[in-house]
Amino acid sequence: MAKLTDPITILKGVGPARAKQFAALNIYTLGDLICHFPRGYEDRTRLLTIDALEVDCPACFRAMVMNNPRTNHIRKGLDITKVQVADHTGRLTLTFFNSRFASENLIYGREYIFYGAVSGDYLGYNMTNPVFEAPDAPALATRRVLPIYPLTAGLNNAAVLRTVRQALSICDPPREILPGELRQRFGILGADTAYRAIHEPKSMEEAEQARKRMIFEEFFLFSAGLSLMRQARSGRQRPAFRNLEMEDFYGSLPFTLTNAQNRAIGEILEDFRRGVPMNRLLQGDVGSGKTMVAAAAAFCAARNGCQTALMAPTEILAEQHYASLEKLFSQLGIRVGLLTGSQTQKQKRETREALAAGDIQVAVGTHALLTEATTFQNLGLVIADEQHRFGVAQRSRLAAKGSDPHLLVMSATPIPRTLSLILYGDLEVSILDELPPGREKVETFLVGESYRARINAFIRKQASEHHQCFVVCPAVEENEELGVKSAEAWAETLRGTVFPDLRVLLLHGQMKGSEKEEVMASFARGEADVLVATTVIEVGVDVPNATLMVVEDADRFGLSQLHQLRGRVGRGSAKSYCILVTHNRNAETLARLKALCKTNDGFRIAEEDLHLRGPGDFFGSRQSGLPAFRVADLSLDLATLKQAQEASAQWIARWGDSDDPEAEELRRRVGELFSRAEGTMN
Ligand code: ADP
Ligand code: MG
Repeated sequence: MAKLTDPITILKGVGPARAKQFAALNIYTLGDLICHFPRGYEDRTRLLTIDALEVDCPACFRAMVMNNPRTNHIRKGLDITKVQVADHTGRLTLTFFNSRFASENLIYGREYIFYGAVSGDYLGYNMTNPVFEAPDAPALATRRVLPIYPLTAGLNNAAVLRTVRQALSICDPPREILPGELRQRFGILGADTAYRAIHEPKSMEEAEQARKRMIFEEFFLFSAGLSLMRQARSGRQRPAFRNLEMEDFYGSLPFTLTNAQNRAIGEILEDFRRGVPMNRLLQGDVGSGKTMVAAAAAFCAARNGCQTALMAPTEILAEQHYASLEKLFSQLGIRVGLLTGSQTQKQKRETREALAAGDIQVAVGTHALLTEATTFQNLGLVIADEQHRFGVAQRSRLAAKGSDPHLLVMSATPIPRTLSLILYGDLEVSILDELPPGREKVETFLVGESYRARINAFIRKQASEHHQCFVVCPAVEENEELGVKSAEAWAETLRGTVFPDLRVLLLHGQMKGSEKEEVMASFARGEADVLVATTVIEVGVDVPNATLMVVEDADRFGLSQLHQLRGRVGRGSAKSYCILVTHNRNAETLARLKALCKTNDGFRIAEEDLHLRGPGDFFGSRQSGLPAFRVADLSLDLATLKQAQEASAQWIARWGDSDDPEAEELRRRVGELFSRAEGTMN
């Protein structure tokens, strides 16, 4: 018997060239090959008589070749082979294009099994390019459920199929990791059966069963991984903070905190007291005041002799956080430092020295905070803002800096509870479900192109009142996607013809980092009236003076994304507006967008979005830091996901730290899944 770790080159027919093709699919070992699952199946099990064949419905039939195949050379590159076949119910003409295989292998007087679809016209039935096999040959292309594999150049489905089959014949598939009792409860196939059935199912039902098992397994491993992370951390110690006196902090605020803010701070302080590192997700809609909750945590850490690192996804955001925290903390005798990639070497060095010496209590920055070069005297709290950019693996890397610091991750993307349980199963969750008082709802309108003149007049009106306006387009350049407004071209139009008297800036993701920062900072300083942008402005930038958000081709965006965009306005005291422009006339699309005009509740919008588009879109899957699931499609499989999660929680509770071989195998597989996640990030 071969091992799963053996290279695929031990298989017959896999030489260096083949191996290279498989490598393009990330397949190097027998194990990789056996875990290369079909993306779908073709049901070729129906065997009919010729008279029962239905037009355009592919099926198998057994028939005899009634003449010698005749090939006509039509022109260069086009040969047509015709042959008559028949069974006891009727006759059929088969036509093959450029098929030497058919002309040489179909023999007059012999029977074959064919698979194809008839097409009918006034001349009678015909069939083009059916596949065929001898009745006594192994059923490879007919009389079976055919798996359809993800392929790559030079590698066709039949080749993958043959290679996988060979691998399964000399090597046992991965071992069972799902306890029998659990498989029984959820009606799940055993590993050996499932791995074989996913590649060679006897029926479509069996294929579905096998797929379900694999999905369950992946989710089970994923949830188990999160639980294990949580368990490992809960075993760790961190001296409890003793000084939880917050009066000075509250006294220095220019406003009173909302109930939700107070509750979240209470939950954090409770964590600080427990003597274990905190792992908390703070979820709150845009404008719900997460920064103040973070500040409260940093204040408490400082009063307990610990440093805080606050990480933001962009430099602009880091600078904004720095400015607001600096203002607040300077009255409280707490020093704040800024550390970003674009600072001079000297600035960075000075900040780093002050951090190492403990002269700075709160460090604000971008990923630069995470590099080796930064050392802390006593890092006690790490805060990551706009959490969805930080995946599972980054979370654990963060925690490794300092001696198990407390961790607070903040997300402005309201995540439906179902999903947050899944994605952040290793975190406790605090929710800010309340906006600071006096905040007026952003008035939202859905309009068509016929409103263009009015939209322009409205932009002009905002500008005349010294307010600013965002205009968001779905594409960067012209022609990128046909019929969609591009930021570049639209900025040009607005600047040149529509608003020659206004100051129009352009911002998009293809600009250099420093350029983007400069444009955004300039707009934040009030140096322009209109900022035409792509969704790069989605993430947390604060321009309180902006009162209007216009989204062009709004149907191109997800609801949550639109909600995020809308959150860029309504941050000051002036009444704010959001205008969604669309050409789309589809009733469903319009209903979806109208929902946004009616509610400002990010969680409800998120639920709706999840329901309509699935979680892949929800996060822009690359950013979510999720493991690369092989079979599981979150949008379709939420129910399975829930089952798997419950099951894994029970399993971990009972077996988590056992040194039983089964438990060890499970931990190894979890590690594998998460290292794959790490590999797909960055
Ligand atoms: P987000 O949750 O989107 O990060 P911020 O923390 O940036 O929100 O807060 C948005 C704005 O609301 C900031 O200008 C902040 O100063 C203000 N703010 C926060 N909490 C309160 C409060 N309790 N009362 C009034 N204004 C507040
Ligand atoms: Mg924020």
